Amino acid sequence: MKSLDAKAEELDAKSPFTHVRERFRRPDGTVYMGGHSLGALSSNVPAALEKAVLQEWGQGVVRSWIDWMPVLSALGERVGSLLGAAPGCTAVGDSTSVQLFNALTAAARLRPDRPVLLTDPGHFPTDRYLADSVARLLGLRVHRVAVPDAAEFLRAHGDEVGVAAYPAVDYRTGELWDLPKLTAMAHGAGALTVWDVSHAVGAMPLDLARHDVDFAVGCTYKYLSGGPGAPAFVYAAPRHQEFLDQPLTGWLGHAEPFSGEEAYRPAPGIERTRIGTPPMLSALALNAALDVYDDVELFEVRSESLSLTSFLIDCADELLAGRGFEVVTPRQENQRGSHVALRHPDAYPLVRALIERGVIGDMREPDLVRFGCNALYVTHEDVYRCVVTLRDVVDAGEHRDPRFRLRKAFG
Ligand SMILES: *Cc1c(COP(=O)(O)O)cnc(C)c1O
Repeated sequence: MKSLDAKAEELDAKSPFTHVRERFRRPDGTVYMGGHSLGALSSNVPAALEKAVLQEWGQGVVRSWIDWMPVLSALGERVGSLLGAAPGCTAVGDSTSVQLFNALTAAARLRPDRPVLLTDPGHFPTDRYLADSVARLLGLRVHRVAVPDAAEFLRAHGDEVGVAAYPAVDYRTGELWDLPKLTAMAHGAGALTVWDVSHAVGAMPLDLARHDVDFAVGCTYKYLSGGPGAPAFVYAAPRHQEFLDQPLTGWLGHAEPFSGEEAYRPAPGIERTRIGTPPMLSALALNAALDVYDDVELFEVRSESLSLTSFLIDCADELLAGRGFEVVTPRQENQRGSHVALRHPDAYPLVRALIERGVIGDMREPDLVRFGCNALYVTHEDVYRCVVTLRDVVDAGEHRDPRFRLRKAFG
């Protein structure tokens, strides 16, 4: 049997992204496996930001909005093309949390006679908290039903469900849910879907239009590498746009933002999802970061990502055996996103000790170590070094150092 390091070399030699990798910067001397949380810096971004700050802001000042607004609309389309959206269905701005609040509320208002908001008990915290808040606001009941049981719930109580709000990929385990199937089930019951695709966008084709998704939101700072706090996106199917009644009716979503009209009158199409002045510097950083997607095919990103996560699982099986780890990410490829989660009771100190050794991953409470495999810049060799280092940390007991047990925010 071939050794894992030889296998890594062989797989990397076949990678279609050898030249793409150079378009990202990663901290010197590290293996960066945190791209599922904050994507690595694209080399296009510093120059774009310098131009945005010194020329567009510094020299253009307020006049630059004339150029910025079309960039913002084009940016929506660029993200939309990564979602498999038709033109005019995607807008960029605000945070995922804000977009989600707007989309969830607007979706629920499209089904006013249905009292249940169906969502995932394991959804990302912001999605769980906002579901509760939207339910309080609109007088709904939240039912938390995991994806595998959602079909059954929809069969039995589907006529009560107005909105089903689920993640495309579980942020902890990396499990990829069956978006087409759940969307079809929800539609069969007369409900609408709000998908949070934060952990999927940029890592795989999504085909939202083909799967008839109603609404989707997601962030752009994970696989898309838009940068910390990069603006999130909202997708709305064309059939819903003209009926959208959003809770956050900001001036920029007005049909004529500069008219100063007394009452809110929504802009036609997806433009009505705008709220207030967008974070333009972040939008320009994202725009530069997305250039790389002009030169890659998402299906290739997906197949390389699966090669990386499969290899990570193989490395874990072989190198971490007998050391208290459990691979919680599904082994079946069509059930896997682009990160791998390993369960271990010492997840937190292990991640801290690994970082000290130059391998950057992260953890989620209570016991999951997560490694992100962004196919655009992570190699099989990185994956191998990551798992070997984890083994060495465990064997040397480095994670037992008391300073690795002290919790840090954003550790
Ligand atoms: C990362 C992530 C978010 C982030 O929300 P922000 O408002 O950008 O902080 C939301 N939902 C999911 C599912 C995520 O993975």
